[in-house]
Amino acid sequence: MNERTIKVLEINLSEEKIKIHNRKDLGQWLGGIGIASRLFAEMADPSLDPLAPEQPVVLANGPLSTIFPVVTKVAAVFRSPLTGEWGESYAGMRLALAMRLAGYQAIVIHGKAKHPTYLSISSRGVKFKNASALWGLKVGEIGSILRRLEPNSGFRSTLRIGPAGEKAVRFANVNVDTYRHFGRLGLGAVFGAKNLKAVIIHGDKNEAVPNSKIFNKVYMDIYQRVVNTDIMEKYHGVGTAININALNNLGGLPTRNLKSGHFEKAENISGEAFAEQRLIRKMACSGCPVGCIHIALHRREFGPGYEYESKALSYDHELIFALGSFLGMSSQEKVLDLIDMVEELGMDAITAGVALGWVIEAYHSGIIDKAVLGTGVDFDDSQGCLEVLKNIVYPPNSFYATLARGAAAAAEKYGGKDYALTLGKTEMAGYHTGHANVLGLAVGARHSHLDNAGYSVDQKNREQNNLEKMVDSLIEEEKWRNVLNCLCTCLFARGIYDQDTVVSALNAVGINASAGELNALGDKIFKLKHEMRTKLGYSLDHLTFPKRFFETPSLTGPLNENTLQKMLDIYKSRI
Ligand code: SF4
Repeated sequence: MNERTIKVLEINLSEEKIKIHNRKDLGQWLGGIGIASRLFAEMADPSLDPLAPEQPVVLANGPLSTIFPVVTKVAAVFRSPLTGEWGESYAGMRLALAMRLAGYQAIVIHGKAKHPTYLSISSRGVKFKNASALWGLKVGEIGSILRRLEPNSGFRSTLRIGPAGEKAVRFANVNVDTYRHFGRLGLGAVFGAKNLKAVIIHGDKNEAVPNSKIFNKVYMDIYQRVVNTDIMEKYHGVGTAININALNNLGGLPTRNLKSGHFEKAENISGEAFAEQRLIRKMACSGCPVGCIHIALHRREFGPGYEYESKALSYDHELIFALGSFLGMSSQEKVLDLIDMVEELGMDAITAGVALGWVIEAYHSGIIDKAVLGTGVDFDDSQGCLEVLKNIVYPPNSFYATLARGAAAAAEKYGGKDYALTLGKTEMAGYHTGHANVLGLAVGARHSHLDNAGYSVDQKNREQNNLEKMVDSLIEEEKWRNVLNCLCTCLFARGIYDQDTVVSALNAVGINASAGELNALGDKIFKLKHEMRTKLGYSLDHLTFPKRFFETPSLTGPLNENTLQKMLDIYKSRI
């Protein structure tokens, strides 16, 4: 790969100082997760707590960001306060474009501000602004205020946290431009620990898009495949929420804390039902012609005798699974009430929903009583769940303070580990498809279904008998996704950005990278992450699998603990 200079903006919150680094050596890491991993490895201190002021947050975009279709994401790397290990997350909307037009490929934030602060970043530098008056405000409340405080100068992107981040809920998220998030693994708590309420990035420079023959040809080829083939159709059509009915029909939709893979009320909360009854708008990240962000209208009474309010809320498969089927919610209203609450408080919807599933079962089994919980709670009981969510952020007792550290921490202290649906201390995603899904979540760098697509490996290996092939597929997929995440493509477009297309697109902007070099880079990032994860305390020998995974038949049939152990042994032999 040819040499390139990467411009890094380093922000020290403690001293209110910045530095600009022009790093030639970082070019070999291409962009996105490559650069962010490398910078994090240089600056993080594994001996310090995830919420220590010194721990860095690294944001990075890629060389193709927003100049090719559906290349829209920004990578964030940090030490996760939920797991204590590797923290990695991605978000879209306008952030990648704003960073590009502000002129930074990477932004590193470390230190702790003396008082609540928000950052206003532009091509001219950084302003440290007092956010004391904004501290305590919910995500929706602060959004409109920030838009007034920071008038638009070019493309503007707004990152903000809610009360969950301020109060160190270990699964607090960072909201990005209202409808996207750095959702998983607790980046919001890291912001809160730094007294950082928000970051506004002004993309205030112009940048010419390449206009060579080769660029235009490659661009049009990709664009045509995005808009004129059915590769991306599902995402724009019903959206990822189409998976609710599809998985349910196959018995792979986690339901009522994974007591079942089938939800008898799935039809009510399916993507098709939301589209027919609630959908008001579809939105897109900057640089994406697809528009998969589905917005529902949630109209409800303020209270008895009062008028109505209407809220626009985004929904997708993961939200409907975590706050719907997983909690046995039988109506769209109940799911939207819960989505609204996690959005306003600023917490990750998947972790919140799966932790709630554990709470309901722990309450039923008598581990936690009503006096501690402050409410009764049950499946299909949105009022009880709303109460629990509020108490996580404003904890009235030590039980809730523990629950704010996630389901694994709560089960460790109070019991119920067999039905705390976490892998690697991270709450499961919305698929119960087979052994590859469970192993993939347990070993993936961020314990996400997006690391290695175990759910897809299962569906391609319905017999579940070629264990070596399944394990190798997980590893190969994770390495290739490292390459896509260097570019920061939206992973929904992974069918568009195959290896040849990535090589052509990079060549079109003057980066000569062969397929072999890209594969080597994916492997190098995989190893760097593994090395860092190990330093942060992750070990394949410490993995445990909650019994519930083996009690409830999956889409490919019942799962077997011995089979999973064999797969884990194969995985260990490959690493
Ligand atoms: S497909 Fe959806 S998430 Fe992906 S870039 Fe487009 S709008 Fe954003």
